[in-house]
Amino acid sequence: MPTIDEVRSEVRAWLAENWNPDITVGEWWERLTLSGYGAPKFPEHCYGRGYNQALANVVNEEIAAAGAIGPPSGLGYLLTAPTIVMHGTEEQQRDWLFRIISGQDAWCQLFSEPGAGSDLAGMLCKATRDGDEWIIEGQKVWTSTAQLTNLGMLLARTDPEAPKHAGITYFRFEMDQPGVTVRPLREMTGRALFNEVFIEGARVKESDILGGLNNGWAAANTTLAAERAGLGSGGSGAAGGAFPGPIAGNLDQRVGDYVNSRRSGNTGASSAPGGLAGSLIRLAQQKGKAEDPIVRQGLAKLWSMQTIGRYTSLRMRGGNVTAGLPNVAKLSMSEMLRLHRDVATKIMGPDMFLYGDDAPTEGVVQEAVVFSPGPAIYGGTDQVQRNIIGERALGLPKEPDPYKGKAFRETPKNA
Ligand SMILES: Cc1cc2nc3c(=O)[nH]c(=O)nc-3n(C[C@H](O)[C@H](O)[C@H](O)COP(=O)(O)OP(=O)(O)OC[C@H]3O[C@@H](n4cnc5c(N)ncnc54)[C@H](O)[C@@H]3O)c2cc1C
Repeated sequence: MPTIDEVRSEVRAWLAENWNPDITVGEWWERLTLSGYGAPKFPEHCYGRGYNQALANVVNEEIAAAGAIGPPSGLGYLLTAPTIVMHGTEEQQRDWLFRIISGQDAWCQLFSEPGAGSDLAGMLCKATRDGDEWIIEGQKVWTSTAQLTNLGMLLARTDPEAPKHAGITYFRFEMDQPGVTVRPLREMTGRALFNEVFIEGARVKESDILGGLNNGWAAANTTLAAERAGLGSGGSGAAGGAFPGPIAGNLDQRVGDYVNSRRSGNTGASSAPGGLAGSLIRLAQQKGKAEDPIVRQGLAKLWSMQTIGRYTSLRMRGGNVTAGLPNVAKLSMSEMLRLHRDVATKIMGPDMFLYGDDAPTEGVVQEAVVFSPGPAIYGGTDQVQRNIIGERALGLPKEPDPYKGKAFRETPKNA
């Protein structure tokens, strides 16, 4: 393994030769992928360099310091890629990973259903074999960015005779095909981040199975673990990458236009100096609220939680992942965002009602406040995190399951 100094000078030299704000986003991501710096922790045969977290941090720091953008944002890079590294065939690793890291494909997560969220394994979406294809029938919901993605990580039941967790398969699913209807759901932010996805007779190929037939639960758990870890740490750590894939339309644009830009999908708040707490401290100063004792108390608590969260994240990045730690990190993140909501509202006063790009803070704080209930739900709700901490870290007994080992067909359904 090279030293930190060696990696730093190698990345600097590579960036000096390859970063060019005038090439397209697509070309930049392709260079990044082929260099192994786009996903430095992945093994070499998966377009990485096999680096540990400390070395990967150096790569991300240097990309940011050069004023370049990092790898693509979105769920393909954050969730699908680590799942392919762990469960993919050689061919899937070669082809699917290249397209994810170089931003050619954008993936959404087709996991949740109307009756299967916390109890994800209770899903009813089914896949029926038809030669070397599978026919999919079912409904997914809360599918973030489904309207912007060409592929989905689809969980479907392939064996209803097997116990609940055993008859599920993980598929690569083409979103643009007959039988797929994506219907946006508008949230209280005014945006439609997520969608309902109706699937009637859509098809996947046998070669689109990731992780083996009826082994989808294991692959899904890799995705969920990446989600919990990523939610706490904020992705690659490199300066915000743009949204990938053929629909978003970023690939042919000049990459220099995405540096420090809201076009990159970066809200600016958590990546600003001092993070969320730093942004609110500056806002309190601007609004003359920095002397208000209640605001000061909230800011101090927010700063402390943010610092503790950063230490937890660094501990995990260093490989020190004790049972339940990712769940503690996810839980603290949603608590921190609720506190951010309360303190921000106090600082903003009536300005909180002004919304949109022309409003104070360009609407960024207002949107973060309205979105604040979301993180306590996605990636596993706060209650579910507490259950996991109780069972896996504190050794409390699991909830009794009278249907354990019974065929899914015979177990009661949520819907
Ligand atoms: C902003 C956002 C984006 C999302 N994006 C996606 C996405 O891209 N793809 C996707 O597949 N899903 C996505 N989701 C869905 C998310 O994963 C689910 O909403 C979540 O898993 C909870 O499931 P549910 O909504 O069905 O609630 P339920 O599971 O019905 O829970 C309802 C309430 O009961 C509580 N509860 C449930 N079971 C237990 C238990 N055993 N013990 C204690 N309390 C319990 C929950 O904590 C919750 O308060 C997203 C959600 C949000 C809010």
